[in-house]
Order: sequence, then C-alpha cells, then structure tokens
Amino acid sequence: MKAIMYHYVREADSSLPNFRYLHIDNFRRQLDHFDANYGFVSRQEWAEVLKKRDVSVGQNKVLLTFDDAMSCHFTHVFPELQDRGLWGIFYVPVQPYLTGKMLDVHRVHLLCGAFEGDRLLTLARDLVSDDMIPFEKRQDFHQKTYTTQTNVSGVSEFKRLINYFCEERFRAQLLDEIMAELGSTGISSDFYVSETELLEMQKGGMMLGSHTVSHPVMSKLDEGGQTRELHLSFEFLDRLGVVGPRTYCHPYGGFHSFDATTVALLDDIGVQWSFNVESRDIENADLSRGRQHLPRYDCNEFPHGSAS
Ligand SMILES: [Zn+2]
Repeated sequence: MKAIMYHYVREADSSLPNFRYLHIDNFRRQLDHFDANYGFVSRQEWAEVLKKRDVSVGQNKVLLTFDDAMSCHFTHVFPELQDRGLWGIFYVPVQPYLTGKMLDVHRVHLLCGAFEGDRLLTLARDLVSDDMIPFEKRQDFHQKTYTTQTNVSGVSEFKRLINYFCEERFRAQLLDEIMAELGSTGISSDFYVSETELLEMQKGGMMLGSHTVSHPVMSKLDEGGQTRELHLSFEFLDRLGVVGPRTYCHPYGGFHSFDATTVALLDDIGVQWSFNVESRDIENADLSRGRQHLPRYDCNEFPHGSAS
C-alpha cells in the first residue's frame, strides 16, 4: 500500500511567477495514473487495514494525503476528489485559525514565489544581525553567506538563512521586516481553507487530522513544547467539530523532524496513526510497530507529479 503526500495543487498565478506547485491538470493526470495502476483505498478498507494490521486488505492501493490546509485544497482538490468518488486525509496546522497569522514556512513560499531569490537574499542579509544567529553557527554563516560567489541560486541561500541560520525566536520578526520592505506583497488573508470549508470537506467525506499548531520541527522542542503543539491542535479540531479517528502528520517529515517523545505523546493522546515522509510502501510491520510514523511518498516520485 502506498500513501501519497501533496501540498499545493492549483493553477498558475501571475502574481507569483516563481511559485512551486502541482498544476491541477497534472494532479488529474496523476489520479488517472493511480486509478489505472493501483486503485484507491476506501475509508472502510483503510479502517480494516489498521484494525487487522494487514496491508493486504488494501491490496496494492493508494491513499491520498494533503498537508497544510492551503485554500486550494478546498477550491481544487476537494471538488476533484468528490467528482471521482474519492476521499483524502487533510492535515491542518491550526495557528492560522487561532491567531490569524500565516505560518512562517508559507510566508517563505510566498516570498520566494513573488520575488527573485537574489533580491530576497540581499534584503535578508541587510536585516540579519549577528545576535540573531546562534553563536556556534556564526562563522559558518559569514563564510557561506557573505563571501565567495556560490552556484546556488539566491532562493536556496535565502531559505537557508531564514530556516537554518536565523534563530527561531527571531524568524517571524525578520519575515515581517522583509515583507514590509517589499510592500508586503503576497500576504493573503484567504491563504488557508476556512473553518466552514473544513467542515464542508468533512461532510463531503474527507478526513481531517492534526499538523501541530505552528508547524515546528518537533524534535527541536522539549516535552512541554511538544505537548502544547499537540494538545492545542487537537483541542482546536475537537472544538471545530472534527469527528472520526485521531490522526497526525509530522511537520516537514523525515526521522530528524520528530523524536521518541513525539511518538510517546501521540500514543498517549490516542492518535491512531501518523504520517512521516519516507519513500516506501506501508508494510505490516509499520502497522504494528511504527504506527506513529507510517511511510509516505511525495507525489513528485510518480508520473505527472513534478512541480510547475
Ligand atoms: Zn506541513
């Protein structure tokens, strides 16, 4: 059995010339491909797979998952799945609903989509001061970011500065400043699926799960921090009226992005399964021993799945 991960599925947006997304036409082609080659696991079959800890119930079929609750999941993905009689699991980070603030990870996507990487990098370098970089990374930062010309495009360097070098507690403020400098183009209040739309999707057969509050690298947080991210996110989903089994998806994914504490907490709060990012099929062993990090492919590993 294969689980597939999607993020943005939409059409071209002229205000975001450099934006990376899966075009809806390619999404349709990929669904056709899955239909012809594997078929799709029904909700009932998936429940059976989990209960019996046996992937053969789902044969060689495919399960569709969508991360981050971007508005295109309502406008593009949901109608397409409904037309085909399919369902998907949608993982929702809840900060945008609790505070009205976009996640930093998405602000970086929007900036990189709207502006040239070199311009972003120059701006960021001017705004970043040494005290925003952890001491042990400073030398590396100066060598890699200020000196020799690299072959890496400005975008990768910009992302590295924001995501890797800049200390987490300064990140939101740095992004605020960069956006202000650029006239804050690209900020959109309808970036995420709204609460009403989430419920409409649930009514239409889609499943909703937690993707934390603020989309952190959980392994970087202590137990208290991780507990807050999980509790507050499920509390929000419960309050919203989300029903069905508790499921979760690790922000960023990969075995570095969570730790044993995360897994123990997920078990404690009754999460029945969680998804990781790992390029392989789900096996029976995962269903008994690795339920809190089931493997999941990126859609770009299959035909028609490349970003536009
Ligand atoms: Zn995510």
